[in-house]
Amino acid sequence: MELPQHHDVVLLLGAPGAGKGTQARFLAETLGVPHVASGDLLREHRNRGDELGKAAQVYMDRGDLVPDTLVVDMIMHRLNEPDAADGALLDGFPRTIGQAHALDAALVERGLPIRRAVYLEVSRGTLTDRLSGRWTCPSCQSTYHDRFSPSPAAPLCGRCGGVLYQREDDRREAVENRINVYLRDTTPVIDHYDRLGVLARVNGDGEIEQVRDALRLAVDPVPVPVPAHVAA
Ligand code: AMP
Repeated sequence: MELPQHHDVVLLLGAPGAGKGTQARFLAETLGVPHVASGDLLREHRNRGDELGKAAQVYMDRGDLVPDTLVVDMIMHRLNEPDAADGALLDGFPRTIGQAHALDAALVERGLPIRRAVYLEVSRGTLTDRLSGRWTCPSCQSTYHDRFSPSPAAPLCGRCGGVLYQREDDRREAVENRINVYLRDTTPVIDHYDRLGVLARVNGDGEIEQVRDALRLAVDPVPVPVPAHVAA
């Protein structure tokens, strides 16, 4: 089923391990907009060893959030690129209420409505299980799970042949911290978009295809404009 190509912004919210990365690529293709993942962008900066990457590394390794000013600047910079002029799928951003307010104001300025903020809901036990067995490709960012969805070419990436690695923050202590940080900082973001009337909750506990179908339905309805007062 092809969706009509509305151009606007969709937010993908969900705890680490909820499956945002797995679903986001497909969702962005369906929507015809670029996939903008704050975690992927931060890892690119870190791998390049630039100023932002160095500043972000210590927070990322602990599973803490990178300060708002750094992340907001990085995302705004990305949204200024020509391919994002008509919309984007934002994955992992906003994660704090400060980031949400900065984003809302920037989108009102650009006249881009938020079509949906989709919250991928997954139980805590599932999150821990998924994250602590996760392996990531450094080249194409594909993720696998050593029990649930192993790479057909393990220890290499089944898609591009990169050598899979376990992210520092996918180790168990960091995983627990990331989930706690998420519950503390991102729950208010979910409430915020609920109040604005753009939130859709999708059960992320099911099979990949089931979740994919539910997401497709969740982003189908007509766009909802962000009310101008949120820019104030
Ligand atoms: P992720 O790949 O989305 O799990 O992100 C990995 C790490 O990058 C997080 O644990 C944070 O340290 C950092 N990060 C990603 N997105 C954000 C964000 N929106 N705000 C602050 N830190 C972020």
